[in-house]
Amino acid sequence: MIPVVRAEAFYTPPWRLADQWATVPPAERCLRWYELKQQRRIQAPEGMILGHRLWARINHGRWVADCPCGSAQVVSPADRRFACPECGAGWFPIVFPADVDAAEASIVGQLPHERNWWNPDDPNPWDRLQTPAEPGPKAGES
Ligand SMILES: [Zn+2]
Repeated sequence: MIPVVRAEAFYTPPWRLADQWATVPPAERCLRWYELKQQRRIQAPEGMILGHRLWARINHGRWVADCPCGSAQVVSPADRRFACPECGAGWFPIVFPADVDAAEASIVGQLPHERNWWNPDDPNPWDRLQTPAEPGPKAGES
């Protein structure tokens, strides 16, 4: 079984920084990873954003959450926070399913690009397939 990728397995340090990253919480690894890739300092926000939460989903075999700015990052049920390295918004709480293992198990038999899962309680899922409408008559038909 190929495990669903979480932040701690996705945002990995170069070998020379492995010891320094060993104590970095999964949600903050994203920020350290972006610093390396973009060669700029990214400060972790200090406070939680109240009244707004993000919904974790599985996208192509990775746990991700979507920032309101349009960015998405790999997240982890082991650290249910999200700080966006793109827009710099504060920490968002992330909603994971009550049974993370069941969500992961539900997509295990799918092909990699079809390993997607959305929380059924998410009122506005970003890219969940919608039931197609009944096809109407095509142009030129009557
Ligand atoms: Zn953002």
